[in-house]
Amino acid sequence: MASPSTSNSVPAVEERPEGPGDELQMRKRRDETQWKRNLAKRKRNSGQEYVGLNTGKTVAAKQVGPPCGCPKGCFLKLGEEAVQRIFSEYWKMGDYNAQSAYIVTMVLSKEVKTSGVGAGSRRKATLEYGVNVDSKRVVVCKKAFLSIHALSDKRVLTVLKKLGDTVLTVLPTAALLKVLTNT
Ligand SMILES: [Zn+2]
Repeated sequence: MASPSTSNSVPAVEERPEGPGDELQMRKRRDETQWKRNLAKRKRNSGQEYVGLNTGKTVAAKQVGPPCGCPKGCFLKLGEEAVQRIFSEYWKMGDYNAQSAYIVTMVLSKEVKTSGVGAGSRRKATLEYGVNVDSKRVVVCKKAFLSIHALSDKRVLTVLKKLGDTVLTVLPTAALLKVLTNT
């Protein structure tokens, strides 16, 4: 703020020692911030350790989560090697939209008929989680899916919600991609 100057003839001109230099420095700072932001984003999308720009906190690198431990034994069924491969393929994409597109092709919304006596039968959608092993879809439980990709439940739900169930079941992959990348 301006100093409460009582001195006599100080011209009321803002001190601006080196105009162009200031601008250059500001631009430099802006570029640096942008660069840092991009780097953090790239690291985050690749599952690498990064420092959150707003929080200043270090976020640990992604790694395969604990085995599901469900009766189907999804992890055993796939084998450690396949699990690691799926994990690294996913994070190698390094692109949020591509990863979203992958998620929607792997998580299918299935309509199941629940047979309820008395209440009558009604239709209900459940999610079927799968992974690709040797270009074949292998159905796994939700916990396994999240662990294999080191994903949070929220991340998956956000992607699915964004598309909506109808889109999900109707559109082919190419169209899904378009929907995702256009937003
Ligand atoms: Zn399982």
